Amino acid sequence: MLKQLDQDIKYLKGVGPVRAEVLKKELGIVTFRDLLYYYPYKYVDRSRIYYICEINGSMPYVQLKGQILSFETVGTGRKTRLVAHFADRTGVVDLVWFQGVKYAQKNYQCRTTYIVFGKPTVFNGRVQIAHPDIDKVEGDNTPLEDMISFDGDMMVPYNLSSAQDSPYGKFVPCYNTTEKMKNCGLNSDGMAKLTEKMLQLLREPLEETLPPYILARNYLISLDDAMRNVHFPESPQMLERAQQRLKFEELFYVQVNILRYARDRIRKFRGIMFNKVGEVFHTFYRQNLPFPLTGAQKRVIKEIREDMRSGRQMNRLLQGDVGSGKTLVALLCSLIAVDNGYQTCIMAPTEILAEQHLETIRGMLHGMNLRVELLTGIVKGKKREALLADLVTGQIHILIGTHAVIEDNVLFSRLGFVIIDEQHRFGVAQRAKLWQKNTVPPHVLVMTATPIPRTLAMTLYGDLDVSVIDELPPGRKPVETVHQYENRRDNLNTFIHQQLRKGRQIYIVYPLIEESEKIDLKNLEDGYEQVCRDFSQYKVGKVHGRLKPAEKDEVMQRFASGETQILVATTVIEVGVNVPNASVMVIENAERFGLSQLHQLRGRVGRGAEQSYCVLVTKFKMSDESRKRIKIMVDSNDGFEIAEMDLKLRGPGDLEGTQQSGMAFDLKIANIARDGQLLMKAREEAQKVIDSDEDESNPANEIIWRRLRELRKSNINWGAIS
Ligand code: ADP
Ligand code: MG
Repeated sequence: MLKQLDQDIKYLKGVGPVRAEVLKKELGIVTFRDLLYYYPYKYVDRSRIYYICEINGSMPYVQLKGQILSFETVGTGRKTRLVAHFADRTGVVDLVWFQGVKYAQKNYQCRTTYIVFGKPTVFNGRVQIAHPDIDKVEGDNTPLEDMISFDGDMMVPYNLSSAQDSPYGKFVPCYNTTEKMKNCGLNSDGMAKLTEKMLQLLREPLEETLPPYILARNYLISLDDAMRNVHFPESPQMLERAQQRLKFEELFYVQVNILRYARDRIRKFRGIMFNKVGEVFHTFYRQNLPFPLTGAQKRVIKEIREDMRSGRQMNRLLQGDVGSGKTLVALLCSLIAVDNGYQTCIMAPTEILAEQHLETIRGMLHGMNLRVELLTGIVKGKKREALLADLVTGQIHILIGTHAVIEDNVLFSRLGFVIIDEQHRFGVAQRAKLWQKNTVPPHVLVMTATPIPRTLAMTLYGDLDVSVIDELPPGRKPVETVHQYENRRDNLNTFIHQQLRKGRQIYIVYPLIEESEKIDLKNLEDGYEQVCRDFSQYKVGKVHGRLKPAEKDEVMQRFASGETQILVATTVIEVGVNVPNASVMVIENAERFGLSQLHQLRGRVGRGAEQSYCVLVTKFKMSDESRKRIKIMVDSNDGFEIAEMDLKLRGPGDLEGTQQSGMAFDLKIANIARDGQLLMKAREEAQKVIDSDEDESNPANEIIWRRLRELRKSNINWGAIS
C-alpha cells in the first residue's frame, strides 16, 4: 500500500511536473515525506511588535508599527539612497533603500500606518533598517501627530512589556532555496505554502516513529505535533519542543545504527592476529628510522599494536594535527603486517597525495627489499595488469593508491591492514568495500588531520576507537599568522618579494564555494593575472578543481620541484601537499573560509626549517563571526583548540564540520556543536535498546527496527554497513 507520504511531490497541488523536477534536482525532494523533512533553517518572530525605543543594532529581525514622517534622498548618482524617517510614539528610526528607490518612493506614503519588518543595524551612530518588508495596516490611519504630545515630546507607552497586537501573530518559517528554485516561484514563502498545503492534506496524524515508552521517558511530543510545529509553530514553546523531539529522533537513529553495527562487527568478525613484531620492523627501526619517534607516536603505535594482536578487527581513528607525523606511524604499523605475512593498502584522497606517500615511503624503506607500488586512475593498460597480477600473488607488500584501489578487480593475496588517509573524503561505504577484500576483514586505521574533540568523536563514530597524536616533532617553528586588510596590499607584496628573493615559494589561495563558483573562478583568474603582473620576474602556476587530474598534477609537480615559485590555487591544495620550501601561505578572502579549512591550509607551510608565515587577507568590513575566526587563527596554532572553538562558533544549520569529519550521515536538524546534551541522551537510549533487545524481538521496539530499515534504504551510507 502506498502511504500518503510516499506520494510523488508532483501531485501536490501547486507543484506540477516542472517544479517537481526543480525540487528533485536542487534539493532531492521527490516525495511528500521529503518535503516534510525539509525543515526551516530559521524563523522570524512576527508575533510581537517592538517599540522603536526598544530596538538596537544587536537585535535580530524586529517588527515595528508606525508612520513615515518624511523621505530624504541622500548621495548622488549610483550611490543614491532613499531614507524614510519612520516613527512610532517612542522614537524615530531610518528605513533605507539602496536599490528599488523608485519603487519605494511610489508605494509608501507619509501618514499611513505600516508594519515594518527587518534587521536593525547601526550606521553612523543611528539605528536603521535596510530594505525592510512593509505592509500597510488597513483602517488604522490616525495621524501620528495626534499620538504625540503637543510640545513634540515622544510619549513612552505606560507599559512597554505589554506587546502590541501583531496582524501576523506567529513565527514565520524560512526555508533555504536556490536561484533555480526562486526562478520558478519556490522562494522561502513558496516552500512554506507548499508545506502548509501538504500538512492540511494529511488528515490522519503522522505515523509515529518512536515507541511510546521512549517518548514518555524523554518527555517528547508526538511526531505529528512536532512536524506541524516545526514548520508552523503555534508558539515559541511549541517550536522548542518540536525541535527537541525531532533532534532527539535524528540523533537516536544515528546512534542505534552505529551501535547495532558495532555490536555485529564484534560478534561476527574475527580479527586477523598479528602475533609478532618481527625482523622487518626491527631492521627498519634500527637502520632506517629517520628520526627518533615522538612520545605521542610511540604511544599510538603501541595502541595499534594492542589492537592488532587482540584477535578482534581493529577499527581505529588516528587524529593528529597537520605535520604531527602520521605517515611514519602508518609505515611502522604496515611493517608489523609484513612481519606477519600480510599486505597493506594505503588509500589517499588525491593522486598527488598518493604519489607523495609513495615517494616518502619508498625513500624511508630504502635498502629493505620491500615492494611498494602505486595504483591510481592513471595507471592503465599493461602496467596495471602486471601490477594487479603481482598484487594477487602477494609480491607487493604495500599498495598505495586513490579510490582506484577499492574497485572490484583489485584483489590481494592477503590483505591484512588498510590505512585511510585524510578520512573526511571517504565514507563508511568505501571503508566497508575494503574490508571485503579479505575473508577475515583487515585491520583499519583511519587517519585525519581535522580533529574533533575526543568525546565527540567517540560518540559520533561509535564504531571507531580513537588514538590521538598530541605532540609535534621537536624543532618545529610555529607558523606566524598575521591578518592583513586587502587595502594594504603594497605591504603584503613587499613582504612576498622579500621571501621570494630568499628563495622561498608562495601559495596564494582563493575560496571556492559551490554556489558562487563562477564568481570565485573569476576572482581566481583576476588574482592570477594580478600576481603575474606584480611578480613578473617569477614563474606562477595556477590550479583549481576544474582542471583534469593529470593537469592538476602537472601544475602541482612543477611547484613541488621549484620550477614555479608562486602557486595560485583554490582549496584543492587543502589536503596534504608537502612542499617544504614553501614558506608563505596567503589566503585571500579569508573571511569566507571556515576555521578548520584555514587551519588545514596553514598546515601546508611550516614544513621546512625556515620560519613560515600565513597571511589572512580580508576585506575591512567583516561580520563579527569572521572577525572572531581570524582572531582565533592569529592567536592559536593548535588544531585541537581550533576545532573546539570552531564547534562553539558554528551556528545551527552549518554543516561544514560534519561534512569534513566524514560522518556517514547528514544531520538535518540536530547540531553536534549545540546539541551535545541531547546527543548523550539519545546515545544512552540507543545503547539501552541495543543491549536489552539483542535479537530484536521485543514488540515494544518494533517501530524502531522498521524505521531503521527505512532509513537505511534511503541513505546509502547507512545501508552499506551490514
Ligand atoms: P601528517 O601527520 O600531517 O601526515 P607527516 O607524516 O607528513 O604529517 O609528517 C610531517 C613531517 O614531519 C614530515 O616531513 C616527517 O618526515 C616529519 N616527522 C615525522 N615524525 C617525525 C619525528 N618523530 N621527528 C621529526 N620529524 C618527524
Ligand atoms: Mg599526512
